[in-house]
Amino acid sequence: MSRSTDWVPSLWLDTFDEMLYDDNELDYGDEWTLNFNYSQTDTVTKEERKRGWKVYSHCAYGHFQCETCNKIWPSARVVVLFRYRLRGNRGTVIMRPFGQSCRRCRDDEFDLPGFSQKEVEEALLRLFRKIRKNCYGDEDEDEYDDGSSACSNKVWTKPHEASLCEACINGICCQDDE
Ligand SMILES: [Zn+2]
Ligand SMILES: [Zn+2]
Repeated sequence: MSRSTDWVPSLWLDTFDEMLYDDNELDYGDEWTLNFNYSQTDTVTKEERKRGWKVYSHCAYGHFQCETCNKIWPSARVVVLFRYRLRGNRGTVIMRPFGQSCRRCRDDEFDLPGFSQKEVEEALLRLFRKIRKNCYGDEDEDEYDDGSSACSNKVWTKPHEASLCEACINGICCQDDE
């Protein structure tokens, strides 16, 4: 078992597969795969849009650990960005986790987030809901979540510091609710 401060792609891959093939979250007979890209942005060009690409940005609760000083911190504003499309009967999801840098070191190094299994499931559930709606035309059962910005976890964390957040620097961080 890895600590939840570690970025663990296999946790996402395994959970993705379990939810698809055990829980039948996307039960339309298509084959969906999850990939990672650590430099993608939320920009979808006209050309990409034509080819069916869409984006979904999710705000999650995760933990970080500084590689330099080992400091651990939680954040309720960890952005995970998904790009997805369905083409023929192949569905592709490309994910990018956004990092944060250490408040103490301020070394411009972004550490990648670690998540609990529950957070991963929550993120993927929301992603699948988007896919059902946008790729298969299924109505969204619960419209309370209109997508990008809802931080579902009301946990107290230190004030979010934009200069330490890779998503803020890229201009795609979750917006404040207030
Ligand atoms: Zn540090
Ligand atoms: Zn941010």
